[in-house]
Amino acid sequence: MRSRILLISIFLLALGATFLFRKPHSAASGGAWHFQRQLEALSMFTDSLNAILADTLEIRTASVGEGGTLGALLFETGIEGSRYLSCCDLFIDSLGWTSVRVGDTLEAIYARDTLCEVRGRPRNRRGYFSIVFGDSARPVDWRWVPEENYRRLRAVTLAVTSTVWESIDDSGVPPDLTPTGHIVTARDSIREVAYIKNFEDQLANRLFVYDIDFYYDVQPGDSVWVLLEEVRYPGSMETSFSRIVAAKYDFALGGMTEAIPFFHRPDSLAPGGTVVILDHYHRDGASLRTMFIKMPVPFGRVSSVYSDSRMHPVLGYTRAHRGIDYAAPMGTEIYAVGDGIITFRGWSGGYGNIVRVRHANGYETGYGHMSSFASGQEVGSYVRQGDVIGFIGTTGLSTGPHVHFEMKLNGEYVNPATEILPPANPLEDQQLELFRLQLPVLESTWGRMTGGSLPAPPPEDE
Ligand SMILES: [Zn+2]
Repeated sequence: MRSRILLISIFLLALGATFLFRKPHSAASGGAWHFQRQLEALSMFTDSLNAILADTLEIRTASVGEGGTLGALLFETGIEGSRYLSCCDLFIDSLGWTSVRVGDTLEAIYARDTLCEVRGRPRNRRGYFSIVFGDSARPVDWRWVPEENYRRLRAVTLAVTSTVWESIDDSGVPPDLTPTGHIVTARDSIREVAYIKNFEDQLANRLFVYDIDFYYDVQPGDSVWVLLEEVRYPGSMETSFSRIVAAKYDFALGGMTEAIPFFHRPDSLAPGGTVVILDHYHRDGASLRTMFIKMPVPFGRVSSVYSDSRMHPVLGYTRAHRGIDYAAPMGTEIYAVGDGIITFRGWSGGYGNIVRVRHANGYETGYGHMSSFASGQEVGSYVRQGDVIGFIGTTGLSTGPHVHFEMKLNGEYVNPATEILPPANPLEDQQLELFRLQLPVLESTWGRMTGGSLPAPPPEDE
């Protein structure tokens, strides 16, 4: 045992030394790779280390073939009697693993010939169902255990050819998106499309939506420099797109539009809160976005405009309509049009189900007639511009599926159609100072990740 530990220590030391003293690599394409491979190697190593040290553990594995059943898996891994019945009950009734599919696996973990844990791994999901047994053969804990993951940064440069989609497809997708590095299964291709779609949506429809017209301004020869965040799942060997941290759009015909990140706490809205948000600014601290997006639904048709008097369709008499109605199919997502705090979420008379959000600078918005609310939010939750807060319905005084969208400024109704223009607050004072301090740090790190050729905008006259 001692010699084994000694061997392991030497191996660990050697690995650490490689890690610390390795030669700086040329980071020609995506400099984060080497480092991540080391981390993955280290985590695989500690896993196998644990397996070696756990002398007394025996793991029996079975996987589902054509026509396989849960019962057969349990039988194959030696689970019998009352434990067998408990596993069937818990997997199916409590954990919702109702049908096994080809490729799903089951692991039965025995400590000194006694079953201590059973893990069910559905093939295409990130995690496993766990049932833990106590000394008396009774299950003591059962739950879904999500797969561990970590976030990583990657620098990519897109050469704009015909469309942004194609550019991302050509050079934006990570080589380890899928377990094999290729698109093999249907799941792989779905995940590739999702990756490109998220990337494109964030770049064109969110980050640069007010600065670049991706139909008319974009030319072959342009390049886009993007520092992005991905989520890596070492267990299933997959990578997902998370968000764009920073971006520079370099026009072939001259000029550059930048999205420089600033992480901060939305103190003005949630004093003392722990929420840290990522916003993007131009080099001078001006925000890249407007305070509100145009519509609270992705594709809505205005069915009733803001007016101080109109004939109410349900009540049948003239009444002011201090909001805008957007008709959309039942269940369509409703977005918060700006960052803010949820101040009301529930039933309110003719509004039916309504969410109200308080924004900066004295603004408040309301979204009525919802069929249901988004999960994971409550009064006091901080929501970002574009976050889903509920779904189109026709609750309250309503003649069909639509959202009644209203906006107040300092307690008075205003017409949202004329209030969408104010830009989001720029960075000022201390925040602007901090932003200016962070900028060179960001650019030198990012520059190293791209191999040192990060373009800078032409100096401006002050
Ligand atoms: Zn309305």
